[in-house]
Amino acid sequence: MGKSTLFNRLTESRQAIVDDESGVTRDRHYGQSDWSGQFFTVVDTGGYVVGSEDVFESAIREQVLITIEEADAIFFLLDVTTGITDLDDAIAAVLRKSKKPVFVVANKVDNNFLYSETAVFYALGLGDVFPISSMTGSGTGELLDAAMKVLKPEPIEPPESTIPKYAILGKPNVGKSSLINILSGTPRNIVTPIAGTTRDSIHVTYNQFGQEFMLIDTAGLRKKTKVRENLEFYSVMRSIRALEESDVVLLMIDAQEGLDSQDINIFHLAEKNKKGIVILVNKWDLIEKNNKTTSVFEEEIRTRLAPFSDIPIVFTSIPEKQRVYKAIDMAKRVYENRKQKISTSHLNDVMLEIIERTPPPSIKGKSIKIKYITQVTGVCPSFVFFCNLPQYIKEPYKRFIENQLREKFDLLGTPILLYFRQK
Ligand code: GDP
Repeated sequence: MGKSTLFNRLTESRQAIVDDESGVTRDRHYGQSDWSGQFFTVVDTGGYVVGSEDVFESAIREQVLITIEEADAIFFLLDVTTGITDLDDAIAAVLRKSKKPVFVVANKVDNNFLYSETAVFYALGLGDVFPISSMTGSGTGELLDAAMKVLKPEPIEPPESTIPKYAILGKPNVGKSSLINILSGTPRNIVTPIAGTTRDSIHVTYNQFGQEFMLIDTAGLRKKTKVRENLEFYSVMRSIRALEESDVVLLMIDAQEGLDSQDINIFHLAEKNKKGIVILVNKWDLIEKNNKTTSVFEEEIRTRLAPFSDIPIVFTSIPEKQRVYKAIDMAKRVYENRKQKISTSHLNDVMLEIIERTPPPSIKGKSIKIKYITQVTGVCPSFVFFCNLPQYIKEPYKRFIENQLREKFDLLGTPILLYFRQK
């Protein structure tokens, strides 16, 4: 129906987060996008191939319900060349009952004749119809303008915002609840929901190992589902919510399965959102080990996360209570790293010497000089390099600078931003 095309169009400037190498075609697609300066996450529901007589099988119904429950706004995509199908009718009936904003999107409107055909979709009783062509991109601007009006700005920070906020993310069954359970010895207070937002997140403050921190859980549809696709979809929606509200993501992977494409999707989403990251390799007790096992695992994970591989990796076992303290300690360190402010004089002392020794390669006979560096305010450590010809500083040199910064300062687990500006 063109959902993937629309998805790619919405996220193209940000590069769609899909793992091309895995060869898995049914991967859930989600990515970051922005329009008129507002950032949002796009989730492609994946959809179903209708095979049975009952066009609105429970699996689809469930998926629509999850979407209504978890999304801030819904794009209901219809195909102008086929008109309203029985399945569209059934989905519309559920959407009409929802309180979430629904945008009726008529796709494949590639010419003027088809434009007049879109009027039939008013019969769905869901309001305005937005004609688009996800192939050419026409109409998507109007759709996004309308959608941005209903998307709420970022939630107001809860009063405890100085307490580090962690989201424990990972695939179903990896051990997230088990970790939360052993941390739950002394939950101090539960803040829910955040006033003034539609997000029903639960923020639980813990005081464990002498540290105060908040774990973010997202309430919502608790119903069990037997459909694997829906389970995944639901866990993706919840992960995104928790991720957006956190400072540091604890990405839990299963030691027996290794890092897979779903884990990498979460990793990239955390990186794009400039969150701190700690990787927990859980169920470490189930792995047969020799003295090289840890380093082999680490090496493999770092290779797959390149170029952003300056990430702490902690090997945990929940039943054996192995390195749970270390995991929380790492999260705190990453939190501090992400918030740190490096003094301008220290930054210049260290970096200017390195730059002098290895200056940016000159281009067209012009030498490029970096004169001064300063850290500016941002969601993660952000550095401005003032230079005479910023446009001539290329990717490899930027990577070199990033590596040097990571070597000289403790930036473990945090994304950083580099800007090159004319003085
Ligand atoms: P969630 O879906 O990510 O919340 O996973 P759960 O916490 O429900 O854990 C799934 C299963 O894995 C449960 O049976 C846990 O007891 C088990 N489990 C969790 N962590 C570990 C671990 O470190 N080692 C072993 N052997 N089992 C674990």
